[in-house]
Amino acid sequence: MNDELEKEIAKRDGRFKANGVSAELDELMATTHQSSLLYLEGLAKHWYANDNRPIYFDILIENKINGLCYATPEVPEAFDFIGITALSICTIYDLYYRLLSDPRIFPELGNCEHEISDRGSIISLRDLKQNSQNFSCKPIHPSRTALAESLAKLTIRFLLNHEFAHINNGHIAWVRENSSASQCVFIQEMVSNDEELDLKEYRRALEMDADCTAIQYTMNDLRSRHEHLKQHMSDDVLASFLGVMLPESQLYETTLDCFKTTVRVAYFFLRLLDPSQWNGMNIGSHPHLAQRMHYCMGVMFSYTLERPQCEVTLEQAQNVIPAIIQEAENAFAYLLNSEPDFRGFNSAATNDPARTASLNELRASWATMRDSLIQKKRHSAKLA
Ligand SMILES: [Zn+2]
Repeated sequence: MNDELEKEIAKRDGRFKANGVSAELDELMATTHQSSLLYLEGLAKHWYANDNRPIYFDILIENKINGLCYATPEVPEAFDFIGITALSICTIYDLYYRLLSDPRIFPELGNCEHEISDRGSIISLRDLKQNSQNFSCKPIHPSRTALAESLAKLTIRFLLNHEFAHINNGHIAWVRENSSASQCVFIQEMVSNDEELDLKEYRRALEMDADCTAIQYTMNDLRSRHEHLKQHMSDDVLASFLGVMLPESQLYETTLDCFKTTVRVAYFFLRLLDPSQWNGMNIGSHPHLAQRMHYCMGVMFSYTLERPQCEVTLEQAQNVIPAIIQEAENAFAYLLNSEPDFRGFNSAATNDPARTASLNELRASWATMRDSLIQKKRHSAKLA
């Protein structure tokens, strides 16, 4: 029990509790809770230099943010905490159910010949968020449903990876030291523009680091699944069953698949949960959406260059990234019955001056914080 954290959770309408109104929702929250906690404990065990420091996880009811993270100072009974909201979990699942219900979207994933175009249509992303907990549209073929659920789980992990990076890279300790208001010891995902005025340019740099780190954790996660799969694939009989028994293996069958899935998950996550306008400027607590996509993709390029063992060439990366962004924008256009929106992509591809200027601002903030963060990070690896 910790007053600082409990007060914040209470302010955010408390923790999700099963209420029996929808058995499906209760079960989804229970399984997400269990798997998220296990995953975060695994990350902490892998990364933390201090292996006595526990990490806790909860699902929150709040509907204004997507998640938050918290860390106590180095006191007796110190701990870390990550919370994500029930609404963001539902929205992510509902999105992928709708995407995979349309045979024009991800046609190579699973068996899409029974799916029907436009079944998953939505009015707007806001509307999707408001009605997501009904799960009113699911793919017809079980392989498509299984793949939708696997992509949803990976996207939730991307959010967990992002929150974990805030803790692991010393961000919360930095905010605790530099912020005047007590509420600022929490890092919240997407706060409104008028909060935390004094720290915003630094907060944005922390968000940039958390995004870039989340990309790398996601790629590592998929590559370890790939390695595991490869061991089993040496057995021909088993290999022929795997595609049927485990449709999700399609997402990491080759190292290039791992790369593609990472880009997909990151792009859909950022695009879904931050439907802001494409003006390229830095204003709020988080960098502009086009900016976040731009440097996330940059991280994917450098990942291929720095790790030849990941077996994805720069040329493949250069082909895959724009193709996936276009695929994602087309997918949103199908769901929304609108035209694909390539403004963010074009702003990154053409070195748009507003975006370049705000990227420079992010880097300058990062440079001023970096030495202090090195003292505060939880692990012995290098920072960006
Ligand atoms: Zn964040």
